[in-house]
Amino acid sequence: MCSAHIFDANVMSTRKPATPSDATDAPADAPADAPADAPAVEREQQPTRLGDCRRCALWSKATQAVGGIGPKHAPIMMVGEQPGDKEDQQGKPFVGPAGQLLDDALQEAGVARRDVYVTNAVKHFKWEPRGKRRMHKTPAQREIDACRYWLERELASVGPRVIVALGATALKAILEDRAARLQAVVGKVLEHGGRHVVPTYHPSFALRAPDEATRQRAYAAIVAALRKAGTLAQRDASRERDE
Ligand code: SF4
Repeated sequence: MCSAHIFDANVMSTRKPATPSDATDAPADAPADAPADAPAVEREQQPTRLGDCRRCALWSKATQAVGGIGPKHAPIMMVGEQPGDKEDQQGKPFVGPAGQLLDDALQEAGVARRDVYVTNAVKHFKWEPRGKRRMHKTPAQREIDACRYWLERELASVGPRVIVALGATALKAILEDRAARLQAVVGKVLEHGGRHVVPTYHPSFALRAPDEATRQRAYAAIVAALRKAGTLAQRDASRERDE
């Protein structure tokens, strides 16, 4: 795949992976009277480098920020929730089992990886310690809002015709609607900001749903969404050629 980090996610701190013992009791967003060891947060900051971002507190416990990856002008952008444990360590989105499931789903849907840019709504891994493990924690709305700054830059830079929202957090970020409900729109095509938005499940749900039937249904829905995204992207491209 001809791919490139659009944002300099690799030009960042060379910190070792954070561990549960790195966690502090500091609040997620540090108020004015926060303890001295609270992470620095500059909500109005407008950084040019992802690695410098302090718009929310998630930078403080993550190993590195994880930017999007894919062709510069991919017609399809897939947006997930946030980097997971492996992504946090490797600095790339959708590596590991979720990435493999997406690769399989893309192949089954007949969509080429070269047509897809992959990113997350939130660029730092949010986690909480459980023993020696770092357990995923869903980003708060204020963190989704803060990180929309980067998603907007990716959308402006890549200019996709179609956005595939992988899960509820991505859907809220893309639609800029904190009340958006995934279940109400899975299988539909929405329009937002002059682009098609195809909502579907996050690949982690297709991997971890408690029963096999639900996992299969979720996977089939992801394949259907990607197929729909591919069709829409091709249709729009041919319309543009004819104009
Ligand atoms: S999660 Fe997003 S907004 Fe928050 S510090 Fe990281 S890059 Fe910045």
